Amino acid sequence: MIKYDVIIVGAGIAGLYAAMNLPKEKKILIINKRETFKCNSFYAQGGIALAVDKEDIPLHVEDTLNAGDGLCDKDAVDVLSQNSRIVIDNLINMGFEFDKDSEGNLLYTKEAAHSRERILHAGGDATGRYVHLFLLEHNPHPMLCDSRVVDLLIKDGECYGVTVLDHREQRNIYADKVIIASGGVGSLYEFHTNAPTISGDMQGLCVLKGLKLEMMEMMQFHPTVYVGNDGAQKLLLTEALRGEGASIEDKDGRRFLFDYDPRGELASRDIVSKAIYDYKQKTGSEVYLCMKNFSYEYFVKRFPNIYSSMKDFGYNLPQDRVPISPAFHYAIGGIKTDLSARVAGVHSLYAIGEVASTGVHGANRLASNSLLEGLVFAKRAVEDILADHTKKESVEFDIVDEVMSYKEDKEKKNLLRKIMWEKVSIVRTKVGLNEALGQIDALLNEKIGRLLKFRLLTAREIVVGALGREKSIGVHTIEN
Ligand SMILES: Cc1cc2nc3c(=O)[nH]c(=O)nc-3n(C[C@H](O)[C@H](O)[C@H](O)COP(=O)(O)OP(=O)(O)OC[C@H]3O[C@@H](n4cnc5c(N)ncnc54)[C@H](O)[C@@H]3O)c2cc1C
Repeated sequence: MIKYDVIIVGAGIAGLYAAMNLPKEKKILIINKRETFKCNSFYAQGGIALAVDKEDIPLHVEDTLNAGDGLCDKDAVDVLSQNSRIVIDNLINMGFEFDKDSEGNLLYTKEAAHSRERILHAGGDATGRYVHLFLLEHNPHPMLCDSRVVDLLIKDGECYGVTVLDHREQRNIYADKVIIASGGVGSLYEFHTNAPTISGDMQGLCVLKGLKLEMMEMMQFHPTVYVGNDGAQKLLLTEALRGEGASIEDKDGRRFLFDYDPRGELASRDIVSKAIYDYKQKTGSEVYLCMKNFSYEYFVKRFPNIYSSMKDFGYNLPQDRVPISPAFHYAIGGIKTDLSARVAGVHSLYAIGEVASTGVHGANRLASNSLLEGLVFAKRAVEDILADHTKKESVEFDIVDEVMSYKEDKEKKNLLRKIMWEKVSIVRTKVGLNEALGQIDALLNEKIGRLLKFRLLTAREIVVGALGREKSIGVHTIEN
């Protein structure tokens, strides 16, 4: 039986940063569902938040706690902020280049609900792509691509490895430790900004294994998304645009956000999302992002990807205003972990990045704290793993005999996306949530493959979480 020291599930920023911190001499395997660029990390635009210096730690903590609306785990937020400079310096010392001014000073920008400039970016609006590529280049370990994890090998509260579906064949791969870094849940929604691989598989698998998810009702929607293109994955127009002066207006050019919050465009993204949703419903007006405050030269240099993507859609930025809508963006809730990223209720299993619920985001994530969370908790998971020298016995597992997918599952998957968008998105009602629950349970009782079951179980947790939280808070809005 071949056994690894560590298996990492997922090759986004969290999985790859964990890999980079694990010594080359260790036997490590990264398992990745599809092509490496198909992860949310690749698409991250705005940047990475950090406490700029010691004095900024309490402020960064305070901003994070304020955004989280009283539901953050303060200890987790402290860990995030106190370690932020360390992980960023680590990247810089390894040769990563964040954007700098002409004198070579790091360029910090500001995003909604941050009380100061503290977000680093790279390649203008291509931070995720640059960091992801850098981590791939510095990854010293083998990667199994086009393979997805379909089971966790758990016995008597101990994790011994995973089952992978590798080109239609299932096989067990054993390891002393398993790190889940498989990202969020975007593909459960009809409109979202996420990579197509991000579909809540591992969250659903954890439910199947009796492991605890938490805060699943906390799903974040991004307010400024261009939804005019085909396909479920939509183009996000980064928060940094508003941070640097872009405005949101109705068809007559009125900046209506001030009707909802005195901070206008700089209110946190849930407030802006709800305001746009409400205004569109009430007035029927199209809503636009207006970027005329930028000069052409600055815009093209600072936001090159947005410029060229929107050009492909026929928009000439920053001159043209762009019709926008909110879309699903980020899963705050996830697999419950402790401060060392250990999954609650089972040994030798870790969860990091968007798939985890560390408690740092509470009821609402502060912009650009998620890439940071991926880095900080990947490091903590690795430190915990390297500190454990206990010898582990080998246990072999049978492969679960279950059909992975039926032909009809695709249609059901699309139905689920509609249910989630219409009944479990920005503004929820008890009636709508109960309908969604009934429909999801009905689908779960049909003849479905294991892969669809994962999605349905994850979606079910979101609905049950939302039903359980009767008062609106943070990103969770419930009306009667
Ligand atoms: C458009 C966009 C812009 C964003 N901008 C920012 C930003 O500016 N700043 C910020 O902080 N955050 C931003 N975010 C959020 C941030 O990018 C993500 O939260 C973060 O990248 C998640 O990293 P991750 O490593 O946890 O997951 P991901 O990067 O999503 O990687 C998950 C990996 O798991 C793999 N995987 C999934 N399921 C399986 C399976 N069953 N088996 C094997 N592999 C699997 C996937 O293929 C992928 O490789 C943005 C997100 C999006 C979508």
